[in-house]
Amino acid sequence: MKKILILGAGPAGLSCGMELSSNGYSGVILEKNSKIGGLAKTIKFEENYYTFRTDIGPHRFFSKNKYIHSYISNILDDKWIDVKRSTMQYIDGKYFDYPINPLQAFKNIGLIKTIKFCIDYLKSVIIYIIFKKKIETFEEYIFSKFGKSLAKFNITNYTEKVWGMSCKELHPDWAKERIKGLSFFSVIKNMLFGINQTKSLVQYFKYPENGTGEIYETIGEKICTTDFKIFENTYPIKIIHNNNKIKKIEFKIKNLVKNIEPEHIISSIPITEFISLMNPKPPIKILNASKNLKWRSQVYLFITLNKKRVTKNQWIYFPNINIPFGRISEMKNFSKKMSPKNKTSILIEYFTWENDKIWKMNKEEIFELSLPFFEKMNFFKRSDVRKYYHFKKKFVYPVYELNYKKNLKIIEKYLNSFSNLIYIGRPGKFKYTNQDQSIEMGINAAKKIINLTL
Ligand SMILES: Cc1cc2nc3c(=O)[nH]c(=O)nc-3n(C[C@H](O)[C@H](O)[C@H](O)COP(=O)(O)OP(=O)(O)OC[C@H]3O[C@@H](n4cnc5c(N)ncnc54)[C@H](O)[C@@H]3O)c2cc1C
Repeated sequence: MKKILILGAGPAGLSCGMELSSNGYSGVILEKNSKIGGLAKTIKFEENYYTFRTDIGPHRFFSKNKYIHSYISNILDDKWIDVKRSTMQYIDGKYFDYPINPLQAFKNIGLIKTIKFCIDYLKSVIIYIIFKKKIETFEEYIFSKFGKSLAKFNITNYTEKVWGMSCKELHPDWAKERIKGLSFFSVIKNMLFGINQTKSLVQYFKYPENGTGEIYETIGEKICTTDFKIFENTYPIKIIHNNNKIKKIEFKIKNLVKNIEPEHIISSIPITEFISLMNPKPPIKILNASKNLKWRSQVYLFITLNKKRVTKNQWIYFPNINIPFGRISEMKNFSKKMSPKNKTSILIEYFTWENDKIWKMNKEEIFELSLPFFEKMNFFKRSDVRKYYHFKKKFVYPVYELNYKKNLKIIEKYLNSFSNLIYIGRPGKFKYTNQDQSIEMGINAAKKIINLTL
C-alpha cells in the first residue's frame, strides 16, 4: 500500500511526484493516457527510417520565476536551446509580424485605418480611464486596452475562434491572466524602444531539442528510479470518501479493478471529472456547478512533407473566421531535431466543442477541408504531402464564461473541506495555466505534504 496517490501525469502531477520522490516519499501516479506529459507531451512518428516529432500545439518555455527556470534547466542537464521567436498573423489576406513591425503594419493597414485606431484608443482612455467605466467582460477589457477598432482588427476574431463564443460572453479574467500588461501603449513602447515587460511579447524562449515532452519524459525516468511508480493507461473509477476525507480510490488498470487507500491524494485530472467520480455523490448544488463549467476541445492535423521548409515562422495565427483552423506551426523552426533533414512538417490546430462538426470529421475530411488554403497561400501542394495524422483532445481549455467564477467557487469550497486532498494543475484547478505555472503548483503541493508530514 502506497501512501501518496497522484492523479494525472502532466507537468503538474509529474513535478509533484518528482519533488516528493526526491524527498524520500513513496507513492503512485495514475495516468489515463498511454504516454505521460499531458498537454505538453511530444509525439513521435516514424516513417521509413525518418522520424518526425510534434508537440500537441508547440510549447515555448518561459518563466519569470527563476527557481522554476533553473529547476527545468537542471532536469534537462541544460539540453535545451534558445529560440528566437518568429510569429505571424494572417489577417484579411496579409501577413503581420508579431510583435508588430511598425513599417509593415502601416503599409498593410494604410493611413486612414491607422488614424482610426489612434482615435478609438483615445476614446477608450476617456471612457475607461477618465470616466472609470467598470470592466465586466473580456470585450470591454480589450477595448479599454487597445481601443475598439484595433481590438476588432486583431484580437476579438481570434479569441472568438478559440473559445467558440462572443467576447461579450467571456470573463475579463482570461485577459488579465493571459495578456497581462499588453495594451496599445505597451505595443507602441515595444515597437519604438524595444521596452518589453509583457510575457506575450517575449522575443526569445527556451525549447528542449526533442520537443517539450523531453522535460516530462526525463522527469518520468527520474521518478521511476525511486519508490514512486507511474502507471499509464490507468484511471480512477470511484473516489470513496467519508467524513471529509478521501478514504479509498478504485481504479482500472489493464481491465482489472484495484483499489488504494492513500494518506494524501493530489489530483490534476479535470475538476469536473473528479466531482463526477465521488462516492457518495456530492450535494446537488456542487453537481450543478460542476455541470456548468465548460471545456473547449482541440483537433489536430499533423502533415509530414517532402519539402525542406514551408515558412521561417514557428507559429502563424489565422484569426479570420472563414479559415477553419486557428493556428499552424512548423516544428522544424523550434528545433531542427523535430524533422529529418530536407523534410518538414506542419501542425494545424482547430478549436472545437466536443461533438461539433470539426470534432466529428475524419482525417480525410479535415485534410480536404484544409489543403486548399495551404495551396492558395503557396505553402505546399498535394504532391508534397508524405502522410497526415489526426488526433483530438478534450479538456484543453477551461472556458472562462461570465459566471465561471461563481460555479468554481462553489466546487472549491466543497473540495477544500477534504483534509487529505490537494487539487492542482490546469484541468485540476480549472485554471488556464502555462507549463511553468502547473509545475509550480505541483512543487508547492509536494512541499505542503512534506510540511504536513514532518
Ligand atoms: C495548444 C496548446 C499550446 C500550449 N502552448 C504552451 C506554451 O507555448 N507554453 C506553455 O508553457 N504552455 C503551453 N500550453 C499549456 C500547457 O500545455 C499546460 O499548462 C500544461 O500541460 C498543464 O499541465 P497540467 O499537468 O496542469 O495539465 P495536463 O497537461 O492537462 O495534464 C493532466 C494529465 O491528467 C491526465 N488525466 C486526465 N484525466 C485523467 C483521469 N481520469 N485519470 C488519470 N489521468 C487523467 C491527462 O491525460 C494528463 O496527462 C499549451 C497548451 C495547449 C493546449
